[in-house]
Amino acid sequence: MASASIARSETGDPLLLTPGPLTTSKSVKEVMVHDWGSRDAAFIAINKAVLEGLPKIIHGEAEFVTVPMQGSGTFAVEAMLTTFVPRSGKVLVLVNGAYGLRAKKILDVAGRANIVHETAEDTPPDLVEIERLLSADPAITHVFAVHCETTSGIRNPVEAVAALTARLGRRLLIDAMSAFGALELDAREVAFDAVAASSNKCIQGVPGLGFVLARKTALAETKGNATTLVLDLHDQHQAISTTGQYRFTPPIHVIVAFHEALKEFWAEGGVAGRGERYADNARILIDGMRALGFETLLPEARQAPIIVTFHMPKDPAFAFQRFYDALKDRGYVIYPGKLTVADSFRIGCIGDLYAKDMKAFVGVVAEVLKDMGVGLKSAA
Ligand SMILES: *Cc1c(COP(=O)(O)O)cnc(C)c1O
Repeated sequence: MASASIARSETGDPLLLTPGPLTTSKSVKEVMVHDWGSRDAAFIAINKAVLEGLPKIIHGEAEFVTVPMQGSGTFAVEAMLTTFVPRSGKVLVLVNGAYGLRAKKILDVAGRANIVHETAEDTPPDLVEIERLLSADPAITHVFAVHCETTSGIRNPVEAVAALTARLGRRLLIDAMSAFGALELDAREVAFDAVAASSNKCIQGVPGLGFVLARKTALAETKGNATTLVLDLHDQHQAISTTGQYRFTPPIHVIVAFHEALKEFWAEGGVAGRGERYADNARILIDGMRALGFETLLPEARQAPIIVTFHMPKDPAFAFQRFYDALKDRGYVIYPGKLTVADSFRIGCIGDLYAKDMKAFVGVVAEVLKDMGVGLKSAA
């Protein structure tokens, strides 16, 4: 194959069509070629700007604070659950994929009572059932929901879940990891106590920092809830808000890159601008793949423009590993499926990827299918 047909990022790397870590801009990576001490005034100022800027993304400047947590996104989710849910609390966990299940596992390990409302991976939670469960069990203090369940790419109805949870006098905790910065979540209209996200998804930073946007009044009530030292968001907030410093070594380079990524996010128009580019990417991907004969797991109405799950073709000439390797050879990294309901694979629409990249990708998929002798369109 001609080398001209191999896709590369600005820094010469394969394009990651994955849900994060994802392809970041060259400028985000470039700001990391320095050293800072963790008590260095320049770093402390950058960190402060990052933390103070994040609540704007949910229109929560007045009522929310950012509490960062070193580590991947799951560290932030575990910190949120084990700080906000008191030891005597009980959580209704809404599950329709791996990240809902992970939250349940975190609660089990931490010894927090919980019950699960589970729906299939292509199905949103049932509001009538949530109302029944909450009404039947006054011990339930919190509801946990995943905004975009990255397992399938489904957009869960967090607005409706929030309204119901508030009406029944319970508190909502949200894992918005893969949606944060791309799907609107407006704290002025949607009632929740905390939302967890990370540096390496739709804000397009590098991995290493999770964070929780916490309602100040709710965070103030969490003293002593934590069952680990490291993941105690109340303690973390106390330290950072009084000294400007982390309790334990911060991922400095990650935070500096995140600061640059946030500048680029706002320059693109914030949630509206970024969400629109991703929606465009998803549109080109879905239309192009459908034209080749692929089928999506989700109907349009449930599909978030983050990551798209495609059914594995039935044509015996289609071998996923060959497909994956051939795409990788041409500069595109895709994602295996994670579903239990269907044999599938996933393609991400997020990161430093544009319409031209998605168009070129669909063209390469057509070539690879031809090389493999797969005739989806006629065989379908
Ligand atoms: C990525 C992601 C997480 C966190 O995963 P890590 O591997 O710990 O970064 C949590 N929830 C959802 C919905 C995600 O997409």
